[in-house]
Amino acid sequence: MEFCPDCGTMLFPKDNKLTCRCGFEKGLSDAETYSVEEKVEVKETVKVVEDIDKFKPTTDIICPKCSNKKAYYEIKQTRSADEAETRFFTCTKCKHTWREYD
Ligand SMILES: [Zn+2]
Ligand SMILES: [Zn+2]
Repeated sequence: MEFCPDCGTMLFPKDNKLTCRCGFEKGLSDAETYSVEEKVEVKETVKVVEDIDKFKPTTDIICPKCSNKKAYYEIKQTRSADEAETRFFTCTKCKHTWREYD
């Protein structure tokens, strides 16, 4: 907020200038104008989801292939509704995938 140095009234913006009803005018500096525009444009660089494994939950289970003790798991509902959900594991180390045995 800026005030007129001549009469002390609040200045209001008009055509890239600050004007006062007494006739005072003050040009807005280029720097100010640009910074406003940049703020609008700079934004969003949507990351491609390639590290999706990082967001999967992990569980303590022994990998049948490499004996690693951690694996990501995913619960998938099988087609028929009366069947229980099946858990799929993916070893955090060797990426071996297997399903839960029961
Ligand atoms: Zn004024
Ligand atoms: Zn493994």
